[in-house]
Amino acid sequence: MNQINHTKERLIKAGLKVTQQRLVILNAITQSDRHPSAENIFEEVRVENPTLSLATIYSTMETLVDKGLIKKVLVQDGAMRYDAHTDSHNHIYCTNTNEIIDFEDEELRELIKDFLARKNIENLDVTDISLHIQGEKIDKRKHIKIN
Ligand SMILES: [Zn+2]
Repeated sequence: MNQINHTKERLIKAGLKVTQQRLVILNAITQSDRHPSAENIFEEVRVENPTLSLATIYSTMETLVDKGLIKKVLVQDGAMRYDAHTDSHNHIYCTNTNEIIDFEDEELRELIKDFLARKNIENLDVTDISLHIQGEKIDKRKHIKIN
């Protein structure tokens, strides 16, 4: 199945009508691994979709979030970024380049689960664990590398 058909199917499964704008926006965010902002998506799709306004991008993003097709990621300055990767996962956020990197580690996950179990927290059923690790790149020209 090609990407567009796959995106169409996801919209239908979520109970949404397939519109050109939803298709274009969901497709753009799915293909990005940068955790884009609405502005990033706007810049990316405007050449081929000159009638799409930033307001439409925002409202479409909200609809996609409501239906669980994408997730919101809040960063330090309060700016909203979006994530097409809706499974539980951790983020590393770099405050000097604004990069958001997915960070998944089974060992860390188990460690936190064990820790929470040992803490014996009353009256809470933990349904999701995701860490937001914030830092500054030491050398901005290099990628953040997890060993
Ligand atoms: Zn992510």
